[in-house]
Amino acid sequence: MENNKTYVCLGTCQAVVSEEKYNNGLTKCGAEVCTMKGEPFAEGKKNETTGKNEKSEPINN
Ligand SMILES: [Zn+2]
Repeated sequence: MENNKTYVCLGTCQAVVSEEKYNNGLTKCGAEVCTMKGEPFAEGKKNETTGKNEKSEPINN
């Protein structure tokens, strides 16, 4: 089972950022045209079904 964390922009640019890039300082959306420009990325992934980014569900252990 894949367990690679990714970070996503929930604005119009729909960027997906790897954990490595996020840890290297790419933590905010920088797309000029994005509705979430300047906002921090959320931990989450692209939903393969809808094609849209979504936040990860909180995991209850
Ligand atoms: Zn964005």
